[in-house]
Amino acid sequence: MREKVFAANWKMNKTVAETEAFFQEFVNYPGVGRGHQVIVFPPFTALAAVRGLVGGLPIHWGGQNMYSKDNGAFTGEVAPGMLKELGCAFVLLGHSERREIFKESDADVREKIGAAHKHGLKPMVCVGETLDERKGGQAREKVVRQMAAALDGLTDTQVASTSFAYEPIWAIGTGLNASTGDAQEMCALVRERIEMKFGGAVAGKVPVLYGGSVKPENIADYLKQADIDGALIGGASLKADSFLQIIKNALGGKFA
Ligand code: PEP
Repeated sequence: MREKVFAANWKMNKTVAETEAFFQEFVNYPGVGRGHQVIVFPPFTALAAVRGLVGGLPIHWGGQNMYSKDNGAFTGEVAPGMLKELGCAFVLLGHSERREIFKESDADVREKIGAAHKHGLKPMVCVGETLDERKGGQAREKVVRQMAAALDGLTDTQVASTSFAYEPIWAIGTGLNASTGDAQEMCALVRERIEMKFGGAVAGKVPVLYGGSVKPENIADYLKQADIDGALIGGASLKADSFLQIIKNALGGKFA
């Protein structure tokens, strides 16, 4: 059975002081991260603080983005090795806000995935359609295209240390949710694309998450779906109590 994964994407929120306040609440939950996986994606400026604040808790952290080059004249960018130096195990890549606002292409995302693996970072790759694409019946086609680019040139070992998040863009930060049926269908599609290229044994190991207005009230229904292994959570991960409640509700009311 695949471990459940709960990932917090704080986006451009939280100073170091606010990050400290967030982790103070975790001392009351020594079971967090045990028997399931918790990953926090803070802004770059809070990564060093997170490293100190998680203490002995089995919580992972990662960058929300990075550039694909090792170093050089790329003003404003952050290199994979810089994330590694701060203890990041993960990096979030291809979030729809990167793709839509900062115009990252499928090829850009693919290059970053390769760079992440080269540096021993586990990429969590986001895919998903816009509302117009869904209404126009192009959701599957879009995700198939994003998956083809993301998987291009990867080895079995690299795919096995990659995770994916299906995030319908219209559900991110809007309070609108994909139905559990639609979310399952799209997460199954993500897994099917992995299976077609790498076989069932590899595809069966890869975590596929749903993201889009996940809250304490709706997490349990998503996690009942066969191909949904966890959630990438934005707004509801900003407050420690709501993030912890999501994990708790997903696990049937208690930390494993
Ligand atoms: C996200 O940031 O990836 C996300 C899913 O945000 P929210 O949970 O706020 O919809």
